[in-house]
Amino acid sequence: MSTTQPPLPPVEVTPDSRPYWTAAEAGKLVIKQCTACGENYFYPRPFCPFCLSDKTIWLEASGKATIYSYTVVARAPFFRVPAMVTLDEGPTLLSAIVDCDPDKITIGQRVTVTFLATESGPPLPAFRPE
Ligand SMILES: [Zn+2]
Repeated sequence: MSTTQPPLPPVEVTPDSRPYWTAAEAGKLVIKQCTACGENYFYPRPFCPFCLSDKTIWLEASGKATIYSYTVVARAPFFRVPAMVTLDEGPTLLSAIVDCDPDKITIGQRVTVTFLATESGPPLPAFRPE
């Protein structure tokens, strides 16, 4: 039996999320920033979830984050450690911790973004321990 990881399915690219995936192809993690109220947010959407302004811009994130919560899934097709991570820029997002020993993950642990190839199209951002 092969232990090779199956390729990740392609991501869904919508008009609103296209810049996010284009950035991912360039190895960059981007989030949205509202220029009306100054809040950073994720997931990308055209209206600020804090003040509903449409004055928003794309902001390149550092890719540095802290694990907010996580779980370990014994049998998972792709990710054994789904996790919520809080970016240094503020937003918390649902992702996964990869390249790690699931027994050594802790809340508050520092992680950094990495990009995982998919079957076709843009790569999928995930996080690995720093
Ligand atoms: Zn706003």
